[in-house]
Amino acid sequence: MIDELARAEGVVATCTEAAAWALSEHDLIAALDVTHRLQQRLAAVRLALVREVDGRGVAVARGASSTAVWLRHRLRLDMSDARRLVGLAASLDATPPAVRDALAGGAVSVEQARVIVDTAATVSAVAGAEVADKAVGVLVEWAGQFDPILLRRMGTRILDHVAPDLADAATAAALAAEEARAARDRHVTISERAGGRLRLSGTLDAEAAALLRAVIDPLSAPSGPDDARCPGQRRHDALVDVCRLALRTGELPESGGEPAQIVVTTGYDGLTRQLGAGALDTGLRLTPDTVRQLACDAAILPAVLGGASRPLDVGRQRRLIAGPLRRALVLRDGGCAFPGCDRPPRWCAAHHIRHWADGGPTTLDNAVLLCGHHHRHVHQSDWAVRLGGDGHPEFVPPAWLDPARVPRRNHYHRRT
Ligand SMILES: [Zn+2]
Ligand SMILES: [Zn+2]
Repeated sequence: MIDELARAEGVVATCTEAAAWALSEHDLIAALDVTHRLQQRLAAVRLALVREVDGRGVAVARGASSTAVWLRHRLRLDMSDARRLVGLAASLDATPPAVRDALAGGAVSVEQARVIVDTAATVSAVAGAEVADKAVGVLVEWAGQFDPILLRRMGTRILDHVAPDLADAATAAALAAEEARAARDRHVTISERAGGRLRLSGTLDAEAAALLRAVIDPLSAPSGPDDARCPGQRRHDALVDVCRLALRTGELPESGGEPAQIVVTTGYDGLTRQLGAGALDTGLRLTPDTVRQLACDAAILPAVLGGASRPLDVGRQRRLIAGPLRRALVLRDGGCAFPGCDRPPRWCAAHHIRHWADGGPTTLDNAVLLCGHHHRHVHQSDWAVRLGGDGHPEFVPPAWLDPARVPRRNHYHRRT
């Protein structure tokens, strides 16, 4: 077998060198079809090998705690991928051979095989092995037309086709099993990326999915005609808004004996009233601009260093806009005060018009409510904010946007 695989590898290598641009359209599509089929056939071989490795206890004999853990290191797989691989290999072994044959013949894809195996297990539990056999036959045929998601949905009705008499009772059982699978497979992975970024991936069960959509969808709507963010960026910012809100409630469980909070450490020059670059307690470095923006928000605690890097807390209590002051601010602004924004107060941070580091006081006259997006926008763009003669905030557009720089106001939360 090893010789055959080596030969196959050599043949594939010559295909990699062959020029795809030279193919006619007909051959191009034919080549794509064959490549896909080969990939599934090869997956069948790999699954059989994984099954054998697992069955022989190779991983444990070599000191790993499980086959999945061993595969993860050996093939440098994601842990969840490694687990799914071992799981599918085992289930393929326990289902009618028709699934394996279909995979080995390139007739179904790995994901389709997974659906068929899951469905066959459900059918077998409610209707016995013989009906499961029939179900596999039908599903393999359907796999020629439907993608894995559709196939799974149709799999919940498979008994209507192979055992109509059992169908009603079994539909309920199949749905329950599907729900149990969703509950079993629920997970979120947070992995570190360079520069302090995180990669977020995972699968939510149906209830969590509904909850997330209910919260994220309205929050990720564009915040006005000026909103140039793409949908992905808006969803990202919405998630941040939710975290900010959770921090602001003060009801999160303590971590290490301290209430949950973000600590920003930064240098501060009292003479020039300049904030230096900062660092989060994860060690991530921040620009002075980001430090100023974070320091505006009451839920974030800046730890300011004096000249000799001794902690020097510049009137933190006065700086935090909370309690009665925040309530007064909510009464005055009614929500994000940026022109055209409809975000309600709950999603807003209090921005210091004149930053506290520049000597700006923490008073109603020096504060304005801004949603997360517009808070960032005000800190990073040339918009200026001030209070008008009537004590309400107005925003002066940058000259490139309006050469006359006529102040604009939010007419959504307040009538003029
Ligand atoms: Zn601010
Ligand atoms: Zn806003």
